[in-house]
Amino acid sequence: MGQEVWTAGVAELVERIADGHALTAEEALAVLATPDAGTLALVAEAGRLRRRRFGATVKVNYLVNLKSGLCPEDCTYCSQRLGSEAQILKYKWLSTEDAAEQAGLGVQGGASRVCLVASGRGPTDRDVNRVTDMIVRVKDENPGVEVCACLGLIKERHAAKLAAAGADAYNHNLNTAESKYQDICTTHTYADRVATVEASKAVGMSPCSGLIVGLGESDEQLVEAAFALRDLDADSIPVNFLMPFEGTPLEGTWELTPLKCLRILAMVRLVCPDREVRIAGGREMHLRSLQPVALEVANSLFLGDYLTSEGQAAEQDLQMIADAGFTVLGRAAPPSAPGAAGVDAPALRRRGAGTAAAPNA
Ligand code: SF4
Repeated sequence: MGQEVWTAGVAELVERIADGHALTAEEALAVLATPDAGTLALVAEAGRLRRRRFGATVKVNYLVNLKSGLCPEDCTYCSQRLGSEAQILKYKWLSTEDAAEQAGLGVQGGASRVCLVASGRGPTDRDVNRVTDMIVRVKDENPGVEVCACLGLIKERHAAKLAAAGADAYNHNLNTAESKYQDICTTHTYADRVATVEASKAVGMSPCSGLIVGLGESDEQLVEAAFALRDLDADSIPVNFLMPFEGTPLEGTWELTPLKCLRILAMVRLVCPDREVRIAGGREMHLRSLQPVALEVANSLFLGDYLTSEGQAAEQDLQMIADAGFTVLGRAAPPSAPGAAGVDAPALRRRGAGTAAAPNA
């Protein structure tokens, strides 16, 4: 197919999606098969859906790693897994004070959502009580901020306690397609993950569920996973790009290019045109210089560091958003001078617990 014909086809497809057409699997596969030379044109078209729903805003999210490493599960991609030899910090629960302090720094830096994340299969009663205290404290100290909890597999009664404490959302990623799941984890199932997302929905929390791409999945499996997120009605969709940590089974797995990452993001945007799509863990390593281009499709990111790896400095993230002509959701547009994003980035990067794996728990 010639370039012009192809671009016209995508433009027409985007028009139909804007009018309510649900992308088909065949169309999604065609998007992923876009040649490198057509990928920026694809991004421009997909970006029309992004701007239609979210304008030029970027939602900033901030991770607080409440508990790191020491997980009994065996997710192959995760530096916190059972037997992981990855050189990460391992620690048990942060105090409520420390969690609240870190959350406050993220909010000062522009975050409108704080994600309270703990490694592990799922929380105990005591863990839930600990996190509800943190939720109450973070919301008291930061009026208007959204809090998302990410504590692993969860029972509905625990989800209800989190919601009652004020949690707005619960994150639990599907990560990959059901047909791929047994390759990446043996200690829990894809169905367990779906049940957790359903439990969070049942108690009224906003479902946040996304992907890790670059695990060795096929294009068909990428489409399968994106359609599953559409069927689950996920409100926010973090897209993580595999960080192949040394000491994990996926060490040395490098399957992504920046343009492929853009095609995956565009496919997700076309499947879920009105949902928050977030560039998450591994964006710096895989999108590289095309990160700001990715914001034409995605409308959300994590500020600064991830759970067990350092991200780009927070001030660079905010400068990137401003340079690309976007504004942080809930903030006035910053002046355009260098450093104008004006964040105490060193403070943000000193998040007590230091570095923290992709938000995959
Ligand atoms: S992704 Fe979550 S459940 Fe899986 S090993 Fe990592 S911390 Fe544990």
